[in-house]
Amino acid sequence: MSLSRRADAGDLAGRVALVTGGSRGIGRAIAIDLARSGAEIVFTFRSDSDGAAATVRAVEATGRCAIALRADGTDRGAAGRAVMDTIARFGRLDILVNNAGINRDAVVWKMADDAWDEVIDADLGAAFRFTRAAVPAMRESGGGSIVNIASINGLRGKFGQSNYAAAKGGLIAFTKSVAREVAAFGITANAVAPGLIETDMVAAMPEQARAASVAETVVGHLGRPEDVAAAVVFLASPSARHITGVVLQVDGGQRL
Ligand code: NDP
Repeated sequence: MSLSRRADAGDLAGRVALVTGGSRGIGRAIAIDLARSGAEIVFTFRSDSDGAAATVRAVEATGRCAIALRADGTDRGAAGRAVMDTIARFGRLDILVNNAGINRDAVVWKMADDAWDEVIDADLGAAFRFTRAAVPAMRESGGGSIVNIASINGLRGKFGQSNYAAAKGGLIAFTKSVAREVAAFGITANAVAPGLIETDMVAAMPEQARAASVAETVVGHLGRPEDVAAAVVFLASPSARHITGVVLQVDGGQRL
């Protein structure tokens, strides 16, 4: 492979990607960008059928196939079924992007048990179960790439987000451990840690909190889902074959 090789469209031709949480936001942008690079797409969503249908149309507009699976990642059987469905349709699995995530914010002394448990399970437990199900399929396919969508708040902590920060910090430690375990099979595992990105997840934020986040960046603006997707495509591409166990911040310098 040439050292000058870049992650251009077509780098992922013939590859099959499974993206969790692809009906909106960052997951949708990842699905579309992976498809633009040549990958066939399977993605999960929890309940937003209209959003899932829009993602399917956007992927198909790139000329690639998209399969939308309604699958709640907190359901213990969801990951195994999603991987089986992927293999049944495309015969292989090369890329797993653990993107689905939620937040239930509260200061720790007011946090309900449910808010803690739901966020840990959706943001960390589901990534464990999808990774566990995907690794054997990737081995069968001759290798692969796992990309976990963490957050800068998993690196620095965040007021009101002890559950979310614990889940994302755990996801980063999980990524590094998995990177060590799967390297021998030709599989890489990396994390992307976005700063604040313009999606539904942040639409509900008070304007003051949003402005404070913009002020934390050095670039002076929030990121877009496409900024995160570009990092994922790179980490999933042959250009990143020698990169594993890293955390790539996509945050405009928000945590510099
Ligand atoms: P959105 O809320 O816009 O979208 C979340 C996606 O995940 C949707 O497709 C949703 O499905 C799906 N999802 C949520 N819970 C489940 C579940 N239990 N099972 C299956 N699918 C589920 O989120 P974003 O695009 O903003 O965030 C994507 C990822 O990026 C998350 O992990 C988030 O923590 C992380 N992140 C986001 C940042 C931001 O500023 N936006 C910053 C840092 C990290 P449905 O539509 O059906 O509900």
